[in-house]
Amino acid sequence: MKSKHKLKLVHLYPDLMNLYGDRGNVLCLQQRARWRGIDIEVVPVGVGMKLPEDYDLLFMGGGQDRGQELVADDLFQKGHQIKASIEAGLPALVICGGYQLFGHYFKTSAGKKLPGIGVFNAATDASNRRLIGNVVVRSQRFGKLVGFENHSGLTKLAASLEPLGQVVQGGGNNGEDGVEGALYKNAIGTYLHGSFLPKNPAVADFLISAALARAGYEAVLTELDDSLEKKASELASKRPQ
Ligand code: GLN
Repeated sequence: MKSKHKLKLVHLYPDLMNLYGDRGNVLCLQQRARWRGIDIEVVPVGVGMKLPEDYDLLFMGGGQDRGQELVADDLFQKGHQIKASIEAGLPALVICGGYQLFGHYFKTSAGKKLPGIGVFNAATDASNRRLIGNVVVRSQRFGKLVGFENHSGLTKLAASLEPLGQVVQGGGNNGEDGVEGALYKNAIGTYLHGSFLPKNPAVADFLISAALARAGYEAVLTELDDSLEKKASELASKRPQ
């Protein structure tokens, strides 16, 4: 067991993929780790930059179709390395436009098919409707989750892929089949912005714990006072838009 508690988080395309407070997820992970005496170093990785050899957490936010077009080829080149890490248990959180590119493809509203890296057995096609508003999800693993969605891409999961949860309010993956997000090994894809993690601390702690366990540290986290986080969640879930 190592004694120094230090983790490295790769933030993919922070300049091009960052909508509705997505960066707040990174700050939340850092702060919740810091409260437990764990240091998370953030490594921004943009187009044309190499992924570090070794890292403990991966995050990618959402973006407009245009932002996705600018990063898709670069992400595709990194896809093999990212997939191998996720197969080996790397915890990852990818939001909306990032989530779409972690599936097999995203076909934009202009009809362009952007390649995905296939971490999730899922595919996304743009539609002529837009799902906008606060979403409430029941997740077997994490309990109640809330966040803000704004997407026209509709994602369909393969039957073998576990969704993040069942939609209680809002659209979720496609507004039709009643599920939101995807969960594969320690990788989570979701449409929820907001920022997502500050209002859903159980997910943040799951990612930190999984990263600690994978790095050979003690993975049981001390409890935190989450009363403010619960209030934020309650408030957001009562606002439809
Ligand atoms: N461009 C994608 C869509 O509208 C993703 C949007 C987002 O990341 N919020 O479906």
